[in-house]
Amino acid sequence: MGGQELDYVHEAFASNWIAPLGPNVNGFEEDLQRYCLTDHAAVLTSGTAAIHLALIILGVEMGDEVLVSSFTFSGSINPIIYQGATPVMIDSESLTWNCDPNILEEAIKDRISKKKKPKALILVHLYGMPAQYDEIKSICDQYEIRIIEDAAEAMGAKYKDRKLGSLGDFGILSFNGNKIITTSGGGALLSSNKEWIEKARFLSTQAREPAVHYEHKEIGFNYRMSNVIAGIGRGQMKVIDDRVEKKREINQWYRKLINLEGVKFLSEPSSDFFSNHWLSCIQIDSKVTGFKAEDLRIALLAENIESRPLWKPMHLQQAYSGYPAYTNGTSENLFETGLCLPSGTNLTSEELERISSSFLNFRKQYQ
Ligand SMILES: *Cc1c(COP(=O)(O)O)cnc(C)c1O
Repeated sequence: MGGQELDYVHEAFASNWIAPLGPNVNGFEEDLQRYCLTDHAAVLTSGTAAIHLALIILGVEMGDEVLVSSFTFSGSINPIIYQGATPVMIDSESLTWNCDPNILEEAIKDRISKKKKPKALILVHLYGMPAQYDEIKSICDQYEIRIIEDAAEAMGAKYKDRKLGSLGDFGILSFNGNKIITTSGGGALLSSNKEWIEKARFLSTQAREPAVHYEHKEIGFNYRMSNVIAGIGRGQMKVIDDRVEKKREINQWYRKLINLEGVKFLSEPSSDFFSNHWLSCIQIDSKVTGFKAEDLRIALLAENIESRPLWKPMHLQQAYSGYPAYTNGTSENLFETGLCLPSGTNLTSEELERISSSFLNFRKQYQ
């Protein structure tokens, strides 16, 4: 927490705005609109709920197909299945680790040849690194496919100076406990389309029609963020810029301290890409280093340092094994050779040096 969250929560208690809506909800939405430079925002109970509502508003129904980055967290893909639609998983390119534009186009052509034109693409900006947006957008425009940007891990990151989440037809953010800012749990749906965001607010509050009694013409959801939780979000907005700066500093530290042949950092390909470096991630070429990512993970753990494998691609997960996937081996290779280093914004320079020297000490036995 940054420090000012409790002030807003106290305000909610003092004014007795405990039940769902209230001033913090509106205030948090305005903060997000200003920060992301997007016209409209609805705050919700999770990023997953935001993706679900985006799909519904874009008209995704039973039997439809939706493209989705395979290299991601399951929250990106599950809402497609909630709708009774079919996820079509797309592999990564090795520059940003996100959706490969070539595979994307190949998949779209193949689905069209099977008379199953996808309705939308859920484009993930994984680990805070922007995807190759212009290339992807021009393909989606050509085939008239809507883009939902999954910026759950990428708040504060930019593509050509525009905040991620504000580029697509929809953008989603997550405020889950592990994200760059958190409300303990929560999410947001962003769009420049006013009617769509109004529709999201309506659907997220059980689709209650404007009447004195409870009148329903549509199926709704209980997905709206509460006024108490939104207070935490308003407080967190005071520190988002500091958090992005700190994440980028941590990444710089690691690059400086761990400068080894065979160890490659996930890096911004050009000045068009501005990552929030949510997690500092590396890829290890064991042919060069002599050790694997998993060897390093175990060695760090013995020093009480937690690192983790990269996301396991969705097309390798049993839960999604029955759905189509267009692959090139990239995300599978990343899962086998990659590692997320400790990246919490409360890391001190002493801790970063301890992590790095544990890494370098471990590596000595392979020289
Ligand atoms: C966390 C996350 C989500 C889901 O967000 P929740 O708020 O946890 O529902 C979706 N996509 C990605 C890439 C995420 O990391």
